[in-house]
Amino acid sequence: MKASAEIDDILQRGAGGGRITSEEALLLYTDAPFHALGEAADAVRRRRYPDGIVTYLIDRNINYTNVCVTACKFCAFYRAPKHAEGWTHPTEEILRRCGEAVALGATQVMLQGGHHPDYGVEYYEELFSAVKAAYPQLAIHSIGPSEILHMAKVSGVSIEDAIVRIKAAGLDSIAGAGAEMLPDRPRKAIAPLKESGARWLDVMEAAHRLGIQSTATMMMGTGETNAERIEHLAMIRDVQDRTGGFRAFIPWTYQPENNHLKGRTQASTVEYLRLIAVARIFFHNVAHLQASWLTTGKEAGQLSLHMGVDDLGSIMLEENVISSAGARHRSNLHELIWMIRSAGRIPAQRDTLYRHLAVHRTPEEDPRDDRVVSHFSSIALPGGGAGTRIELPLVDSK
Ligand code: SF4
Repeated sequence: MKASAEIDDILQRGAGGGRITSEEALLLYTDAPFHALGEAADAVRRRRYPDGIVTYLIDRNINYTNVCVTACKFCAFYRAPKHAEGWTHPTEEILRRCGEAVALGATQVMLQGGHHPDYGVEYYEELFSAVKAAYPQLAIHSIGPSEILHMAKVSGVSIEDAIVRIKAAGLDSIAGAGAEMLPDRPRKAIAPLKESGARWLDVMEAAHRLGIQSTATMMMGTGETNAERIEHLAMIRDVQDRTGGFRAFIPWTYQPENNHLKGRTQASTVEYLRLIAVARIFFHNVAHLQASWLTTGKEAGQLSLHMGVDDLGSIMLEENVISSAGARHRSNLHELIWMIRSAGRIPAQRDTLYRHLAVHRTPEEDPRDDRVVSHFSSIALPGGGAGTRIELPLVDSK
């Protein structure tokens, strides 16, 4: 069979909802014509979501500490223990930020931080239960397998015990943070002190079995091969076959500033868009695919809506981790809705479970709130810094 006929056959099968192999996914990634690949991925999206709805979320990423013992080479956010720029936020400050987020319509918080040497399960129990007690309407979609492994080690308990305890304290679902690249070679090259990709997936699988769902992420652009990118997808799909616990897949691109890798390699926009499309076809068993406009830019984010994406993610009332490494794209409620509508889709605000909270079928139905804007305190921005105090504009600007 000629390569082009073989590619056509795979695209047709994938577009029709059939399962494709890792080898076939790699062939599509490297050789499929760009438009044919995008069209097949979009066909999968249309079949899954025939109503044409693309969702977005209002949430706030709140960081409790930048102190971390893991020293990932791509990370611009962390500071080693005892570093002069290390900080921790008291629970009151985290609650203050949650309160601001609620006032602006947020439905979710993503609590993230470094692997602080003193933070065991008890710390997370107190944090999550305090947030849940003060703001029961906020979904706590937070941390990742790396934090769970770290807290279990600090407290001397099993992974399962740690998961059960933080779930009881209020954790609703696990963010896919820390996946970066799951295959061994690229993972060791960029995060030698982090757990293996297999271990990261073990924790996700344990959480899924204990009733906590999650998302899965991927960071592209730190020198991994095309085959390793597809291997990353395959590792996630294998777990999903057993648990069904991944709600969404969210690839994003490595940001080059203020970290040890110094941007020697980066993923291009086309590489990103091709990966998005292949993921939509390959993940016949993952419901949602989210674009990362924060790292790829708003144009690429909008283009991804034609490559199979059904979710544009969050406005991010606050983000400090990826923006510290140079991601400077910001947006707001009006613009995110406009990006979706002008791509020919119907915008809808969703919650953490992907339920539609408000469908904006016509521009007249669009919500108007100029305060719902992205805020960063990134060290990559003038006057910014990981510990910068962010206060959101709660006074109506109109
Ligand atoms: S990515 Fe996370 S684990 Fe790695 S150094 Fe940064 S804060 Fe620490």
